[in-house]
Amino acid sequence: MAPATTIFDRILAGEIPCYRVYEDDHVLAFLDIAPLSDGHILVIPKERKACLHELSDDAAAALGRALPRLCRAVVAATGATAYNVLQNNGASAHQAVMHVHFHIIPKTGAKGLGVGWNPGRLAGDRAEELVDGMRAALEGS
Ligand code: AMP
Repeated sequence: MAPATTIFDRILAGEIPCYRVYEDDHVLAFLDIAPLSDGHILVIPKERKACLHELSDDAAAALGRALPRLCRAVVAATGATAYNVLQNNGASAHQAVMHVHFHIIPKTGAKGLGVGWNPGRLAGDRAEELVDGMRAALEGS
């Protein structure tokens, strides 16, 4: 079944406008319409996938190449000295648009991303289980 279309497909198709910052064969970057701070942008693959783990290697590589360059551009244009790169996957993880996207969010004074962080403790036997499970998954991928 084809993934659902989203508003980002309509932006990619040119059906609705955006403030385009950057575009190449695999990637589009544009200003977020509801910015957390001045200069907040979104970086998306042209490949239509909801979550990061679904992306092809080509799309992932193109995003990896573009992201640091776009961070430099955001820093240069805004004068921000700190920023967050945020990437949500799944509605319960605050993803509203089901097309992979990275937020680049300058931190300027009180403006920017607020982060809730409630750390636990890493138990040794659970750590072993997790590492084993992840290594097995990586061998199969
Ligand atoms: P997320 O919660 O990670 O899915 O964030 C989705 C982001 O997309 C939000 O920050 C929205 O403000 C942004 N957004 C939604 N529609 C548009 C649009 N038409 N142009 C630019 N940004 C958009």
